[in-house]
Amino acid sequence: MDLLDTLVSKALDRELPTREEALAVLATTDDELLDVVAAAGRVRRAYFGRRVKLNYLVNLKSGLCPEDCSYCSQRLGSKAEILKYTWLKPDQAAAAAKAGVAGGAKRVCLVASGRGPTDKDVDRVTDTIAAIKEENEQVEICACLGLLSDGQAERLRDAGVHAYNHNLNTSETTYEDICSTHDFADRVDTVQKAQGAGLSACSGLIAGMGESDNDLVDVVFALRELGSDSVPVNFLIPFEGTPLAKEWNLTPQRCLRILAMVRFCFPDMEVRIAGGREVHLRSLQPLALHIANSIFLGDYLTSEGQAGQADLEMIADAGFVVEGSDEATLPRDREHADVAVRRRGAGTDLPPNA
Ligand code: SF4
Repeated sequence: MDLLDTLVSKALDRELPTREEALAVLATTDDELLDVVAAAGRVRRAYFGRRVKLNYLVNLKSGLCPEDCSYCSQRLGSKAEILKYTWLKPDQAAAAAKAGVAGGAKRVCLVASGRGPTDKDVDRVTDTIAAIKEENEQVEICACLGLLSDGQAERLRDAGVHAYNHNLNTSETTYEDICSTHDFADRVDTVQKAQGAGLSACSGLIAGMGESDNDLVDVVFALRELGSDSVPVNFLIPFEGTPLAKEWNLTPQRCLRILAMVRFCFPDMEVRIAGGREVHLRSLQPLALHIANSIFLGDYLTSEGQAGQADLEMIADAGFVVEGSDEATLPRDREHADVAVRRRGAGTDLPPNA
């Protein structure tokens, strides 16, 4: 296909697709699907080889959120049957992180429900990071604590946080349809605060909430403009007890097309298959590894993923290898916050090949 040859050639030159080209990827047919995966796979292999970066989520605080994000099982008024608890103690979080690192995770993502952290919460996270780093000094820490107030990103950076996750989720025009307690601009502001403190920005999207192809392209282009270094692609898990419980809009083929479109827009950045991969990609998960270079290992947040061992077997069976903690994720020549932040502070030494 001319479209795919053009997109591969542009991606290898780090040139972005046009909006029409991105939309055309989403509009490809099932007959063209393997060609789409193969084209995105060429781009993935050029920048990331056959490496898969593993990330492990530690849910520090679960449920009981005052915000009303309609996709979220932890939202205000959610009837979803999920675990609800307030802050894990640092040693509990460190024990959970240790299990993930033992399974091959290179990055531990510390997640807390809520609108955003208080300064006392930042203290808690600081203690938790110290406990994790005591046993696993090299592990990358990503914090995902909601909207940040002034000065908090700097405090997290000084505590050893490497990246901050805050997703844009959907297009600016549809944001008010999925949340009324904060808006798109609030989300952009937090990502920018994280970047301003020198943290690597991890920001992505959720597909399957009833959005159009145009919305998907809008949010991906917005992420690109924002300068996200790592892009989690979530596929909505329609939890019973939430407003989106009936939104079963995705097929495995659609998920692969979305991942491919994101890859062409972020050719040399970390593209992660995040929530919903088992539910929506199902038996096509190994094909998705040809497009994305990063996954969450095992269970995540309030839903159960495949057990870590099954993920490791899937990676090996598909001919991929787990990225080591001494390997740089992004290409060596990528000018990017990841490198800048890793030069700072104890336990953030550059890997030898960075
Ligand atoms: S702020 Fe976070 S935890 Fe709270 S409802 Fe929204 S996504 Fe869920």
